[in-house]
Amino acid sequence: MSQGCLFVVSAPSGAGKTTLLKRILAATPRIGFSVSHTTRQPRRGERDGVDYHFVDRADFLRRREHGDFLEWAEVHGNFYGTSRQAVNRVLEQGGDVVLDIDVQGARQLKGLADIDPVFLFIAPPSAHVLEQRLRGRNTDDPQVIALRLENARREMVEAEWYDYLVVNDVLAQAEALLKAIISAERCRRRRLPDGTPLPPYRA
Ligand code: ADP
Ligand code: 5GP
Repeated sequence: MSQGCLFVVSAPSGAGKTTLLKRILAATPRIGFSVSHTTRQPRRGERDGVDYHFVDRADFLRRREHGDFLEWAEVHGNFYGTSRQAVNRVLEQGGDVVLDIDVQGARQLKGLADIDPVFLFIAPPSAHVLEQRLRGRNTDDPQVIALRLENARREMVEAEWYDYLVVNDVLAQAEALLKAIISAERCRRRRLPDGTPLPPYRA
């Protein structure tokens, strides 16, 4: 049986990951987004069940104890986790799944041979641009922005073990690169459904 592909995407906060993933998901057939659970407060415009499942701390901890999360981490002072059940359901149906998770969560998935994820890191062109983007987004308090910038320095070091690195300078170019990576991974022979025939060929 063929199994879908798990695309694990990480980036320092403000690098443009959400912007890029929204465009990719809208334009790519047969790919789903894993909606994470978080204890963070919703930002303006975010919808429960669409951007995240917004839960309180007690609810999150209960799910964690129950083993509901494929991975989880505390990021910038809040808990975030990926629902094991939701991911497996899509993968078993042969669909691909995108996980937007931080570097700690990605590391937890690195060791799981049975799901064989592809790891993509999106980097900003510079620390200065990252700060401008976080300020320009206008969704976080200055203290929150300062924490995210400090964490970015540590997160950038982790890029070295990811399979792919995409620098999000010009948005359209970064989007094209991400689409190319997804297309290439889908063509890997080991991912093709069992029994996929080669095209007819006669010498
Ligand atoms: P993340 O999800 O990585 O935290 P966002 O997608 O929210 O980041 O992007 C942060 C800000 O930067 C947003 O205001 C977004 O519109 C802007 N942005 C994203 N990509 C680019 C780009 N390539 N050029 C300029 N601005 C960008
Ligand atoms: P934000 O609060 O800006 O939406 O996300 C903050 C960070 O949490 C981002 O790096 C994002 O990728 C990460 N994140 C979102 N969902 C999850 C998750 O389910 N697990 C982990 N480990 N990180 C997550």
